[in-house]
Amino acid sequence: LFYLITDIYQNSGGTTKELRKWAYEIFSTFLIPNAPLSVPNIDQPIVQAIDKVLSCPANSEQDDQLKRLFIAARQVSVDDANDHLTDFRQKRQIGLGTVFDRNMLAGVVVGDRAKELKVADTLLMPGFERLFAGAADFESLETRSQALACALGTVIKLGLCLRPSCNVHEKLLDKCPTFVTKDKSGKFKIKSMASKRSVQVKGHQFLLNNVNVTVYCYHCREAVWGINAQAYFCTNCDVVLHKQCTSALTDSCYPAQTQKAKQQT
Ligand SMILES: [Zn+2]
Ligand SMILES: [Zn+2]
Repeated sequence: LFYLITDIYQNSGGTTKELRKWAYEIFSTFLIPNAPLSVPNIDQPIVQAIDKVLSCPANSEQDDQLKRLFIAARQVSVDDANDHLTDFRQKRQIGLGTVFDRNMLAGVVVGDRAKELKVADTLLMPGFERLFAGAADFESLETRSQALACALGTVIKLGLCLRPSCNVHEKLLDKCPTFVTKDKSGKFKIKSMASKRSVQVKGHQFLLNNVNVTVYCYHCREAVWGINAQAYFCTNCDVVLHKQCTSALTDSCYPAQTQKAKQQT
């Protein structure tokens, strides 16, 4: 999945700003430590190199650099897939092992696009639907299932350009956010989109902001990840929180202390 999505990313032709945003979405979902869908065997230097590119301020010469951002990591994911599953098509292998029975994919005919789409419709869509099983909406899914649904949805929608034959599947696909997409709102109403731009918790003054570089939540220590990644940043201190972690915060803000620290530096 990582390989397929970075493929879509590299061919996207987005602006520098869009590329940076999408790059972070992919980076935070697949590559950072404890990422929901972390790609196996990625060395720290590869991750650090990407982090460095994403951390430096935007400039117009960055396009090329951004496009080539994931090449090293892609190579690792391909090597990994080849090691494990030499006789199946890469396309269907990466990351799908947990969702699909590998034997189901054995009949895929290489290069026959109509047949490919049919197989994707009959095999991928039920798996995609299973991810949503029992969940009232996208937001109530587990982190990993959310990430997997987004990744799978992206490949089905943007990679294969598949329109599911089944109505239920089509609706699910419409609801699911995808990577490398300009308009993320679409028909999919992210509940947290309606969350307040600013909140006050325990003296902290939190402002909701987009996340473009790796930040970790003060409360649960997990990275802020995903499509349209947003987090609450306190304007008084350095605390950064997941939107879902604001109610669990126990530490108060110490504006006096931070101001003192600022004066000293
Ligand atoms: Zn604070
Ligand atoms: Zn958190």
